[in-house]
Amino acid sequence: MSILLYYKSPGLLLHSPRTRGPLLCSHSNSFNKQEQTQNRNELKFVRGRKLLKHLSTWGIGGPCNYFIQVFDQTQLVSTIRYCDEHSIQFIIIGKGSNCLFDDLGFDGCVILNRIEFLEKKEPGMYTVGSGFRFNKLGVKCSHEGFTGLEFAGGIPGTVGGATYMNAGANGQETAHSIHSVDIVTKDGQFHRLNRTDLNFGYRSSPFQDMQELAAIIAVTFKLEQSESAKRLHYEYMERRRMSQPVGEQSAGSVFRNPTDIRVAAAELIDTAGLKGFRVGGAMVSKIHANFFINCGGSTSQDMLELIALVKEKVDQKFAVQLKEEVLYIHPHLFDVNRIKDR
Ligand SMILES: Cc1cc2nc3c(=O)[nH]c(=O)nc-3n(C[C@H](O)[C@H](O)[C@H](O)COP(=O)(O)OP(=O)(O)OC[C@H]3O[C@@H](n4cnc5c(N)ncnc54)[C@H](O)[C@@H]3O)c2cc1C
Repeated sequence: MSILLYYKSPGLLLHSPRTRGPLLCSHSNSFNKQEQTQNRNELKFVRGRKLLKHLSTWGIGGPCNYFIQVFDQTQLVSTIRYCDEHSIQFIIIGKGSNCLFDDLGFDGCVILNRIEFLEKKEPGMYTVGSGFRFNKLGVKCSHEGFTGLEFAGGIPGTVGGATYMNAGANGQETAHSIHSVDIVTKDGQFHRLNRTDLNFGYRSSPFQDMQELAAIIAVTFKLEQSESAKRLHYEYMERRRMSQPVGEQSAGSVFRNPTDIRVAAAELIDTAGLKGFRVGGAMVSKIHANFFINCGGSTSQDMLELIALVKEKVDQKFAVQLKEEVLYIHPHLFDVNRIKDR
């Protein structure tokens, strides 16, 4: 049986099923020493203990059956092979800053990407491990006088997550600066894909629909020199500080901006009077209406209900159907196509 991967297109956020099967793991807040002292030269899985709420900026999510951190591509490929041999579904994550995990957790293996190298190939050209912090890359490049990734400052994800999502802000996006992407497929083969062969869109990348993809391993960025890069980076950071609920538990923008009208999702939600609107521990931020925050003990169900209610109210008021940017990770992902078709 081949491994089932979950690469769901943004905008297909699923609503939690009403009836849910039991997971094979028990809830626990404790973390064993094995996890803290993980030996990097061999694979050590944490079984049934790791809570996904500790792997997500939303702070929501139950336990996963298997958890492992990978620090290089050899460990990553060994993990993928292990999952394949044992018919364990898996998902690779960076900082979990665009994911809504379920309170039931994940009935498979969560691979935390810690492939964090950075190599300077030539001035303005960087090859970066997919687990490298995107924010840190943005700071580094712009402070070295190269433009293209200034917007990354303040985005709490990894290079792999940003490439998969084609993260962007302030008119810039990840894809604009990509030169090539190194991936590994489910059969363990490595491939280098050139930017010219990759079709990116607004918060979308070809990786979201690549059935054979196991993971993005590294990304090479090629940036242009610019004297204003550092200043621009600071400006964008300041803009974030002024307009976003910095320090709150969120996943950034919940909805994509509609592309057919020139009104941002945040403006629609705000005009609908929904700032501060709350379901349980989930609330529409009073600072930025497209940021939904976990203001204390939000369950995945709270967040899903809040998302559904906001969509409904915006649709009723403006006849606009908002589409999710955040991804809901279903606890049982046994049939990728079924999920995609729903
Ligand atoms: C405060 C805040 C501000 C934000 N601001 C912005 C913003 O300005 N612009 C923006 O676009 N987003 C923003 N985000 C959302 C989020 O940070 C980005 O989408 C980010 O790129 C996600 O990276 P991640 O590593 O956390 O991905 P995760 O959330 O861990 O994963 C997201 C998806 O990518 C996949 N993935 C991750 N790594 C890999 C890999 N190596 N190989 C294959 N697939 C992979 C996962 O399987 C998952 O499907 C913000 C979030 C927060 C909390």
